[in-house]
Amino acid sequence: MAITLTSHGAAETVTGSKHLIEVTDRNGEKYRVLLDCGMFQGEAVYDVKKDPNRDFGFEPSSIDVLVLSHAHIDHSGLVPRLVAEGYEGPIFSTPATRDLCEIMLMDSAHIQEYDYAYDAKRARKKGREPEEDGPLYTKDDVPPAMALFQVVDYARPTEILPGITLTYTDAGHILGSAAVHLSIDDGDRVLQLSFTGDVGRYVDRLLPEPVTFRQADVVICESTYGDRDHSPIKEAEEELLKHVTEICVKNRGKLLIPAFSIGKTQELLYTLNSLSNDGLLPRIPVFVDSPLAISATEVVRGYTELFREAVREELRKDPDLFSFPGVEFTRSADRSKQLNSVEGPCIIIAASGMMEAGRIKHHLRNELGDEKNGLLAVGFCAPGTLGARILDGAEEVNIFGEAVAVRAKIMRMEFYSAHADRNELVRYLSCQDPKKVKKVFLVHGVDHSLNGLRDLLGAKGFKNIEIPKRGQHFVL
Ligand SMILES: [Zn+2]
Repeated sequence: MAITLTSHGAAETVTGSKHLIEVTDRNGEKYRVLLDCGMFQGEAVYDVKKDPNRDFGFEPSSIDVLVLSHAHIDHSGLVPRLVAEGYEGPIFSTPATRDLCEIMLMDSAHIQEYDYAYDAKRARKKGREPEEDGPLYTKDDVPPAMALFQVVDYARPTEILPGITLTYTDAGHILGSAAVHLSIDDGDRVLQLSFTGDVGRYVDRLLPEPVTFRQADVVICESTYGDRDHSPIKEAEEELLKHVTEICVKNRGKLLIPAFSIGKTQELLYTLNSLSNDGLLPRIPVFVDSPLAISATEVVRGYTELFREAVREELRKDPDLFSFPGVEFTRSADRSKQLNSVEGPCIIIAASGMMEAGRIKHHLRNELGDEKNGLLAVGFCAPGTLGARILDGAEEVNIFGEAVAVRAKIMRMEFYSAHADRNELVRYLSCQDPKKVKKVFLVHGVDHSLNGLRDLLGAKGFKNIEIPKRGQHFVL
């Protein structure tokens, strides 16, 4: 007879997505549904003693059902730890999200183990104990988590607990991404709750537009770009070509493009492939230096039915939209290291997108100091990440304990944002009658984007707009 919401992550910040719905029915039966189980990335944003990645804020074994919106690590990255700490229920996701999680969580476990071993080694060298008590989770923790997945297609209402039905709609953000709609019958009434997950864009690219959804009583909405407009999209190919020409043709330098392995990398390859098909791409080597991106590209190739219609048409003429003459997918670490000594211009696409981890850090250490080179940022960098420091204009950054001067040209392109801008978020919510929505919760944003979106939605007639703090409890 009561339904409550508590956000344990992506509250006043953009990572760590975790929203807990608790339902008590008229028999006093209690059900707990967790929406997303994401990892926090970048510097700590909360004033807490314990690392929020090591302290969920709730007891993992008390959760009955976990529902994932999509495979990005800031929405799924703590799943292996949740299971290792006692969660035993089902994990619902779309089929593509399951396939992507399988490779992403393994990769994430590898990074956790590697980073911990690296820190521990450095600490011991300096005669002190490592700062953390072990990696967040290891590769051994991933298979037991994957065994709990149950897939649900878009638009197929599925009862996940007595009185609670889950329906997914395509959010157009990355392959398999979904908005989560729960219909919750607590015995007295039926509450329709919609959680947007991350919302994609209304532009011509690989994936279709976000899909409209049924009237909700409560909406939990992301706000990443709640106060910003993306630049017009027509010029995406032109803009990318301009950067390639300037750095690789004119300067004869290297162009580094840090990119999320899932989504962004495939969108970039799709544009480069189009330029190549049109004979516009200069003949320079393009390296996709990320084993995860290579595996993710394989998964994406297997889900062509989820592409936008115009793209499916293109497949008839060009059966492989992600590769073209000059592209090399480098899986091995040895080949990745060899890229340091590649002479002459090239493009290197590597993860992570926020430049916090992965092979891109090695390339940044090697190439940032050379003014011939360029760094093209194509995605959102959370405050406190290496990417954010570079984009903020730092003249020097610390990478692997070394000071590195930033002399390369720093550029940014917003087209590849997988996130809707503020007008697209408003458009996404325009399927709702604002008078019928009783409450809107804005999450997954920093203060200016949260406040910007609150004002904008307020002007569109939405009332009772809340910006939850971490751990703040709301009765719905
Ligand atoms: Zn995402």
